[in-house]
Amino acid sequence: MITVENLIGGKFSTTEELLDDISPASGEIIASIPRTKSIDDAVSAGLGALESWGGLSMNERADWLDKIANTLESRIDELARLEALDTGKPIDIALNIDAKRSISNFRFFADFGRKLPAENFVMDDATNFVIRKPVGLVGLISPWNLPLYLLSWKIAPALLMGNCIIAKPSEITPLTAHFLARVCTDMGLPDGVLNIVHGLGPEVGHAIVSHPDIKAISFTGGTATGRIVAATAAPMFKKLSLELGGKNASIILDDADLAITIPGVVRASFLNSGQICLCGSRVLVHEDIYEEFLPKYLKAVADFKIGPVINADHAQKILSYIELAKEEGGIILAGGNRIDQPGSWIEPTVIGGLSHLCRTATEEIFGPVVTIHKFSSDDEAIQMANCTEYGLAGSVWSQTRGMEVAKQIESGMVWVNTWLHRDLRVPFGGIKNSGVGREGGMWSIGFFSEAVNICEMQH
Ligand code: NDP
Repeated sequence: MITVENLIGGKFSTTEELLDDISPASGEIIASIPRTKSIDDAVSAGLGALESWGGLSMNERADWLDKIANTLESRIDELARLEALDTGKPIDIALNIDAKRSISNFRFFADFGRKLPAENFVMDDATNFVIRKPVGLVGLISPWNLPLYLLSWKIAPALLMGNCIIAKPSEITPLTAHFLARVCTDMGLPDGVLNIVHGLGPEVGHAIVSHPDIKAISFTGGTATGRIVAATAAPMFKKLSLELGGKNASIILDDADLAITIPGVVRASFLNSGQICLCGSRVLVHEDIYEEFLPKYLKAVADFKIGPVINADHAQKILSYIELAKEEGGIILAGGNRIDQPGSWIEPTVIGGLSHLCRTATEEIFGPVVTIHKFSSDDEAIQMANCTEYGLAGSVWSQTRGMEVAKQIESGMVWVNTWLHRDLRVPFGGIKNSGVGREGGMWSIGFFSEAVNICEMQH
């Protein structure tokens, strides 16, 4: 049994009331976590550390990020084991995706910060110097699907740019944020620079979003929660970054190379049991290759190894969508059932026979459930891909026309003949109801800093 504590001002503490952290794989209680309601102490600690942390040079703060990366790397097996325990995902995914990418987030931003170019604009009679100041105390709120990976994606650039942090991981998966807190205090990160508080979204999450001394909110989570966060933060004129839900399409054109397309699309459909915001939960296939594609795809789905979904409530939500699909006329082509073992396991499920406009095919399910649809032309595929309220990501599979089609997909990110191939310099984020703003590379630098222009006249 693990005891998770808050990190506030360099000290660990808990609350009288505790919450249980439950293993998705076994259903057992694995940790207790604080049920924090007030963040006043964390705000005081963060404000108190701002001047000294913001006063360090970019290179000094980059050195801290490298130190964090190095320590996490030296304990990578422990990190991966905790993430696998908390999320139920297979250990190789926890190691090769979650743990490795968390480390590379710190390393990437350290390197990026050291190489930030000067932003000077010379006029005939004056020079403009753009300097980047910290925003101040920032609130970072993250979901349960890629716990430390998504949180470190925010923590690293926020620290780099001289901000102090109050972070709240999902109460469903708090273990690796707590591990990071231990790592940072062990290595002597100055007190108050990174504060991590645990508890429920509507309680401690809301306290962060609504606190007047917190100047920016970076939130990753569902669209419904994002709407509440925006409604609270916008009237306070906080900087706001919202990375929200998706209902992404994998589009397979008639000239796709099936040897790379099948494994790629299966991975996009079911990696992390479909619980990645970028997963392709709608598979759109050209009618001329549908008969060849379908049996090969279903065979590869049957061979794909998945973990449990995050908890019993989420499993229930996913199963209710499978029932809805049947009511909407769907035909279960694979899976469709709960797997009878302890924890929350659902078979990888593929559903055919549905209109692309029905609820199952347009609402985010966020589980191992994919709907498959036929189209007869590129234009029809584009129109089907763009028919939802979401606009996060997508992929196009074609030997000749991938770029052409990709440009017409209404989403923030599109891959051609690959999926989830990430370069941390590029913008990450969605359009429509999938979010507001971008993170990654210069976009994160921009979000976590106030760009100030000083114009000096030459007389
Ligand atoms: P939620 O929106 O339920 O929660 C996200 C975070 O917000 C959690 O830490 C949650 O705390 C907290 N929260 C909940 N209510 C409030 C509130 N009123 N004020 C402030 N914070 C609050 O999302 P999930 O954790 O269920 O994650 C799944 C969702 O995240 C999916 O929709 C997925 O698409 C999206 N997502 C988007 C990504 C992107 O980059 N666009 C990446 C990954 C996921 P608690 O856990 O205690 O409820």
